[in-house]
Amino acid sequence: MDRYRAILETKEEIKCYWTKNDGVQMASLRVSLLCPITLKRIKRAVKGQACRHLQCFDLQSFLKINDKRPSLKCPICARDVPVKEVVFDRFFAQILSSTKSLNVRDVEIAEDGSYRHVEEERNANKMNEVMERMNASDSDDDVIVID
Ligand SMILES: [Zn+2]
Repeated sequence: MDRYRAILETKEEIKCYWTKNDGVQMASLRVSLLCPITLKRIKRAVKGQACRHLQCFDLQSFLKINDKRPSLKCPICARDVPVKEVVFDRFFAQILSSTKSLNVRDVEIAEDGSYRHVEEERNANKMNEVMERMNASDSDDDVIVID
């Protein structure tokens, strides 16, 4: 696997997302730094070459869950993703490497491809609930889905 999605290419996609949404003011374009498969932080951000979403998933988790299946499927859009069509997303990798804080789970992406971290405080009430549940279970490795 030596395919990469260039940063500029992803930025073009982002522009399309914003302009496609004509008429309706799009409030934000948000991606999660957590892998949708494991809900842990993505280490190597990949997606299918034909995927039309910005969200990436973790390479290792992807190969692992698909291990016993006859064909590889994208966990986000469910399209078939043959191993040779897995691409590393450099834009996403850049976000990950610039985001050291584990408290940041989401980033909002602006039309020009700039992004900002979404701090957990915005979900303060939900987070309190989560913290209570996390305290109840003593492993801090547990991941709780907030919807
Ligand atoms: Zn996909």
